[in-house]
Amino acid sequence: MRYHVVTIFPNMFESYFAESIISRAIENKLIEINTYALRDFTIDKHRRVDGRPYGGGPGMVMWVDPLIRCVEKIQKKIAKRKNAKTLVVMFNPGGNMFTNTIAKTTAKKYTDIIFICGRYEGIDARVKKILKAKEWSVGQYVLTGGELPAMVCIDAITRQIKGVLNDNDSLEENRIASHEIYARPEIYEHNGKKYRVPKVLLSGNHKLIDEHRAKKENKIGKK
Ligand code: SAM
Repeated sequence: MRYHVVTIFPNMFESYFAESIISRAIENKLIEINTYALRDFTIDKHRRVDGRPYGGGPGMVMWVDPLIRCVEKIQKKIAKRKNAKTLVVMFNPGGNMFTNTIAKTTAKKYTDIIFICGRYEGIDARVKKILKAKEWSVGQYVLTGGELPAMVCIDAITRQIKGVLNDNDSLEENRIASHEIYARPEIYEHNGKKYRVPKVLLSGNHKLIDEHRAKKENKIGKK
């Protein structure tokens, strides 16, 4: 999978993707993450990428022209490879809710995903029409930009790619995963109170352990 992220803040991506499972996936050539600085695609002498909204209102709108120029350049690069299948995604708090099911199907269906990270009041509506982009939301709250949503989606899609997770961090959908988990010590004392690990988890009886976990199962991975 190759991710292509269009943003005015490419540096934001460096530290998150330089660690842990994602960096291992990059090293193992299972994924590739390319960022594109949108300001490099503007013809404005001040490298501006936004203007006032038609019809008035607060905030600025990201211009259509630099975004189209940038995405078309990425698409040309992708087209050099045979059998590439590309998805273009924009972010919007009112868009289609991104779920684990979408992460799974996207990981299977596409070879390239272009993420467009909005800022300010959002993106000129013509960008979505021209690029036939999907609009995803990562939750019912408003963030200051599309960079965190892009990181969230890249993370969730990447862990669905075969070979990315090892046995220690395997997919929730293949096991009974509980949101109530424990590790050493067996008893933790805090402010005079003892916090114990449920006895069943120490029993070694895997049937009982599975039953216990199923009661508190985290079903998100299966959706
Ligand atoms: N004016 C927009 C509204 O009221 O719906 C909010 C724009 S927000 C301040 C700027 C950008 O952040 C959006 O264009 C989008 O790319 C991103 N964004 C903010 N919240 C998001 C969310 N919950 N899901 C996905 N993207 C989000």
